[in-house]
Amino acid sequence: MTARIREFLKNRKDEGPCLVVDIDVVRENYVAFANALPDTKVFYAVKANPAPEILKLLAGLGSSFDVASVSETETVLAAGATPDRISYGNTIKKESEIASAFKLGVTLFAVDCEAEVEKVARAAPGSRVICRIHCDGTGSEWPLSRKFGCEPEFAADILELAHKRGLIAHGISFHVGSQQHNVEAWDRALASTAAIFRACAERGISLAMVNLGGGFPAKYLRKTPKLESYGKAIFRALRRHFGNRIPETIIEPGRGLVGNAGVIEAEVVLIAKRSPEDETRWVYLDIGKFHGLAETIDESIRYPIKTRKDRDEMAPCIVAGPTCDSVDVLYEKNPYPLPVSLAIGDKVLIEATGAYTTTYSSIGFNGYPPLRQYVI
Ligand SMILES: *Cc1c(COP(=O)(O)O)cnc(C)c1O
Repeated sequence: MTARIREFLKNRKDEGPCLVVDIDVVRENYVAFANALPDTKVFYAVKANPAPEILKLLAGLGSSFDVASVSETETVLAAGATPDRISYGNTIKKESEIASAFKLGVTLFAVDCEAEVEKVARAAPGSRVICRIHCDGTGSEWPLSRKFGCEPEFAADILELAHKRGLIAHGISFHVGSQQHNVEAWDRALASTAAIFRACAERGISLAMVNLGGGFPAKYLRKTPKLESYGKAIFRALRRHFGNRIPETIIEPGRGLVGNAGVIEAEVVLIAKRSPEDETRWVYLDIGKFHGLAETIDESIRYPIKTRKDRDEMAPCIVAGPTCDSVDVLYEKNPYPLPVSLAIGDKVLIEATGAYTTTYSSIGFNGYPPLRQYVI
C-alpha cells in the first residue's frame, strides 16, 4: 500500500470494488529485475496485467514482452513496442493465429511438440523457435506443469525438425511454476537445458537462447526470498551447467513485476453465523472468485486482507464473494482471521493484487461488472 494509492482511495467517489495500481512500483520492480539479473533481458508476461499504462511504461523502459495471443500482440504494439521485442510464448496456437502474429512482425515462437513446429513452419516461415520443456512446479504456489512442455529428452528431436523445416532452432524455455519460493528451482531445468544444447550441437544445430520463464514471487502473506537471491542462484546454475559459455538469457516475469503494485478496495456486504453456537463467521465481500480473485482456487494464493480494525481481537472467518454460486468462496479450508468488530459496510483492502486479477474477472456473472482498474 503506497501513499499515492492511499490518497487515491481517500478521494475516490465511485462505488464498488476496484483495483488501484501504482505505476511507480512497476517502474521500481523493473529496475530491480534489471539489477538482479543484469545480463538477462526482461520479457514482461502480458497476461499478468495488460493495462495499456503498464505496457507503455515498460515499453518506454526498454522491456520486451511475452504474449499468448494475437490480441495481446496488438496491445503490446499499440503501447509502442516493436515486433522484434515480442516473444509469442504460448505453445498452443491456431495456425491462423501464428500467421496473424507473423504478419504483425513477430518472428519468435514457442513450441513443445512436432505438430506445433509444422504449424509455425507453414504460417511463419524462417522464424525462430524456442522449445519449451516440462517442469514439475515443485516449490511454487501456482504450478504451470503438465499442460506445457515436452520431456527434455525429446527437445532435440523437436528442434531438429524445426531446423529441417527451415526454421531457426533458437533455444529452450521452461517455467518453474508461478510464485516459486525455492530460489534453486531453476537448477534442474538448466541442467536439462545444457544437455539439450549439447545434443543439438552434436546434430550440427547451435542453440542461442535460454528463456528462464517467470516464477518470481510477489509478497503475499508468506515471506519470500529477495529478488537478489533468485538472480544469484540462477547465475550460479548457469555457470554450473554452461561453464564459461553462458548463452543469451531472458526472463518473463509477470507476478513479480506487477503483483505488489496493486491493491483492491472492497466492502463487507454481509456477516453471518450459520447457527448461534457457530464460532466461525461467514464474511461476504463485494468481490469474489468471479471478479478477479480466481487465484484463490484451492486457496492457492492467500492475499493479505487489511481492515481499519486490525488492532482489535481477531477470529477466524470464512471469506466469500457475493454471487449465487457456492464455489464463490475464497478461504474456507483455511479460515481467515478478521477482526471481531468487523461490520457490514466496512471497507477492506486486498493487497498484492496487481497481477492475475482484472483479466480473470468475468464480464457480468450475476450482473456484477468486471473489476474496475485505475492505474495511477
Ligand atoms: C504466465 C507466464 C509467465 C509469467 O509467470 P509469473 O510466474 O507470473 O512470473 C511467464 N512465461 C509464460 C510462458 C507464462 O505462461
